[in-house]
Amino acid sequence: MSEVFDIGVLGSGPAALSLAAEAAALGARVTVVAPEPTHPWKPNYCLWSDELSPSTEVTVEHRWSEVTVATALGLHELRRDYVKLDGLALQRRLLSALEARSARIVDQRAVQLEHLGTESRIHSSSGGTLRVRAIVDASGANSRFVERLHRRKPAHQMAYGLFLEAPGHGFDTERATLMDFRPAMPSAVEPPSFLYLLPLSDRRIFVEETSLAHRPAVSMDLLRERLDARLQTLGLGTAARIGEELCAIPMGLGLPAHGQSIVPFGAAASMVHPASGYSIAHTLRKSKPVARALVDGLGSDDPALAIASANAALWPRAQRRLWELYALGLETLVSMSFAETSRFFDAFFRLPQESWAGYLSGTLTPIELAVSMTDLFRSLPASVRWHLIRTGMSSGAAPLARTVLQSGIT
Ligand SMILES: Cc1cc2nc3c(=O)[nH]c(=O)nc-3n(C[C@H](O)[C@H](O)[C@H](O)COP(=O)(O)OP(=O)(O)OC[C@H]3O[C@@H](n4cnc5c(N)ncnc54)[C@H](O)[C@@H]3O)c2cc1C
Repeated sequence: MSEVFDIGVLGSGPAALSLAAEAAALGARVTVVAPEPTHPWKPNYCLWSDELSPSTEVTVEHRWSEVTVATALGLHELRRDYVKLDGLALQRRLLSALEARSARIVDQRAVQLEHLGTESRIHSSSGGTLRVRAIVDASGANSRFVERLHRRKPAHQMAYGLFLEAPGHGFDTERATLMDFRPAMPSAVEPPSFLYLLPLSDRRIFVEETSLAHRPAVSMDLLRERLDARLQTLGLGTAARIGEELCAIPMGLGLPAHGQSIVPFGAAASMVHPASGYSIAHTLRKSKPVARALVDGLGSDDPALAIASANAALWPRAQRRLWELYALGLETLVSMSFAETSRFFDAFFRLPQESWAGYLSGTLTPIELAVSMTDLFRSLPASVRWHLIRTGMSSGAAPLARTVLQSGIT
C-alpha cells in the first residue's frame, strides 16, 4: 500500500505553500499537488506594512512611506507604509522549507477528491492517487472542490499593468499612488477605473489601470487603452515596456459552506477581501493558526474533527459576519458611477485612519465596521446615500442583507 500523508495541499500559490510549510514545520507529513508547482509566481504582491505580523518572514522589495489617493474632488496624502513583497524570495523560502521537511511535491492537477472515513484520496490528472488524512484546498478562486454558502455571481476586479524602464522618470520613490480616479482622458469616465503607480527605483516604475469590481468584468482592451492615454499624460509614453501584468480577481465569492470534508484556504476560501481584492496579508496571517488547528486535530486521530477545527480557526463566527458585511460593501461599489465613486472615496479617506485602514485590512470587529460605515454614510452627499440605499434594497443584495441582519452584528 502507498504511503498515507497527513495533509494533502492542492495548489502552489501563496496560500498553499505558506500553509503547507507551517504544517510541515509542526511535524505533519505533507504533500503538495499542483500543476507546475515550482513555476515562479507572477503577480506583483503588495500590502500595507502594518498588516504583516512581526513573525511573518517575508522580504520587502520596496517600501513607500506615503500613499496618495486622488479623486475628482481632491487629493489625500496617507501616512501609512505600503510595501511590495519579493514574491520570488517568499516562494523560494517556502519551497526550501518544504524540501527541508521532506514534503512531497507532485506536479499534477487534482481532478477528483474522495473521502473514505479516516482517509481521503486525491485523484490527479495523470490517473494517479494520493492517500492523505486531510485535504487543504488552496487551488485558487476557481476551485472546483469548495462548496459555498451562497452561489453568487462574482464581480471581477480587472487590471492591466506595465513595468517600465524609464531612467530619470521623476516620480518620488517614497510615494505610491494607490488610486487616481481622475479620468485618463475625457471620454474615460464610465465605468470608473483608476491609475495605480509604484515607482520601484529611479529607473523602474510599475503602472496599472484598474477597474473597481464590476459585473460584467471591464474589458482588458479598455484598460489598456486608458493606460496608454495616461502614459502620454504622465510623460511616460516612450518608456521601454519591460513586463506586463494582466489581473482578473473574482470578488465576492460566497463563503465556504459549513461541514465540508476539506479545508478551503486562500482565494479558494473566499479570503480575498470582498471590497479591495487583497488577500496576501490575510493568507499569511492565517497560515499558522489554521495549520496548527489542523495538525493538532490530526493528533486526535479523527480527521473530520481536525478539519472542522481548522475551518473554525479560519472562519470564526464573527469573521463570517464581517465578511458578509464587506460583501454588501462590494455590491455598492459594483454599480457606482464615476461621480458617486469620487464622492464615496473622498469621504472614505476622510474617515479616521484607524477606520479606513481597519476596513481595508479586514481587521475591524463587526460592530466597529458598522460604526465606521454609519459615520461614512452620514458624511456622504444625498445622491450617494441614495445609491447605497437602492443597492441595499436591490434583489442581488437582499439575501446578503438578510444574512447580515439575521446573524446580528454584535
Ligand atoms: C495579477 C494579480 C495581482 C494581485 N496582486 C495582489 C496584491 O498586490 N495584493 C494582494 O493582497 N492580493 C493580490 N492579488 C489577489 C490575490 O492575493 C492573489 O490572487 C493570490 O495569488 C491568491 O493566492 P492563492 O494561493 O489563494 O491562489 P493562487 O495564487 O490563484 O494559486 C492557486 C494555485 O492552485 C493551483 N491549482 C489550480 N487548480 C488546481 C487543481 N485542480 N489541482 C491542484 N492545483 C490547482 C494553481 O496552479 C496555483 O498554483 C492579485 C491577484 C492577481 C491575479
